[in-house]
Amino acid sequence: LPFNARKPNWFKVPAPGGAKYRELGRLIDSEDLHTVCKEAACPNIGDCWERGTATFMILGDTCTRRCGFCHVKTGKPTWNDPLEPARVARSVAKMGLRHAVVTSVDRDDLPDKGARIWAATIRQIRSQAPSCKVECLTPDFQGHEMPLATVIAERPDVFNHNVEVVPRLYSVARRGSTWQRSLRVLRNAKAMGGDEVTTKSGLMVGLGETFDELIAALEDLRAHDVQVITVGQYLRPTKEHLPVVRYWHPEEFDAIADAGHAMGFDHVAAGPLVRSSYHADEHVPQEQPG
Ligand code: SF4
Ligand code: SF4
Repeated sequence: LPFNARKPNWFKVPAPGGAKYRELGRLIDSEDLHTVCKEAACPNIGDCWERGTATFMILGDTCTRRCGFCHVKTGKPTWNDPLEPARVARSVAKMGLRHAVVTSVDRDDLPDKGARIWAATIRQIRSQAPSCKVECLTPDFQGHEMPLATVIAERPDVFNHNVEVVPRLYSVARRGSTWQRSLRVLRNAKAMGGDEVTTKSGLMVGLGETFDELIAALEDLRAHDVQVITVGQYLRPTKEHLPVVRYWHPEEFDAIADAGHAMGFDHVAAGPLVRSSYHADEHVPQEQPG
């Protein structure tokens, strides 16, 4: 499909612009923070920001990898801001979030792969917003166990690492990363975190994978102790990015969810607009008030 091909009608989403959305936008700008919601031009921004949910991107806005589907800037990062964890936590507290998602660009250039800033961010959120659940959506840390252990030692409620695409598409969509390495990261996270840490991953469809390939990928993730899975439709951010090969139908997403539940995942979110962090608060059990 060409870049500006009409999307199917199940993609209609309300335009953002409510009072809460504007308030959060001002707050995030005033703290000089980056959100995936804006940087990745996420179609759910109106819904999520109205609900008071946002995904913060730490460690700068420039990634050392170059995935064919991703809208984040790539190159040689210069970012170094040791006070970022405190500012993220202050925003989480001011926004009154129940579930904060934190993610980062890949920092393959740093000796610790960014792990210290990750750990400091979790600690700061725990201290400034103690009732808020924390979900970390991390890179693969090039498969090194020390950065992963540093993050897991802070006991995030959810450890999320997205495999993004089925294994066959790694060579075109995810150069610099490997399927097996990401699986190892997820299994190690569960082994290190035990019952205190829920493991989660996600994939996009529409890049040319078959239904059977997707099911096989989910089985592989389940076999590596992943508990929560998200599957959503890929949307091409610009004409420089990989094209959409196909828009999957909502009924196909329902079939994916059924298959995932049958495999034993605790939670499966599958739908055209599902993103890794969309309604993330519903993916883990919440304490009942009182
Ligand atoms: Fe932000 Fe995630 Fe919601 Fe998109 S789905 S607007 S990235 S919180
Ligand atoms: Fe985007 Fe993540 Fe790939 Fe970097 S590693 S280009 S942030 S998807």
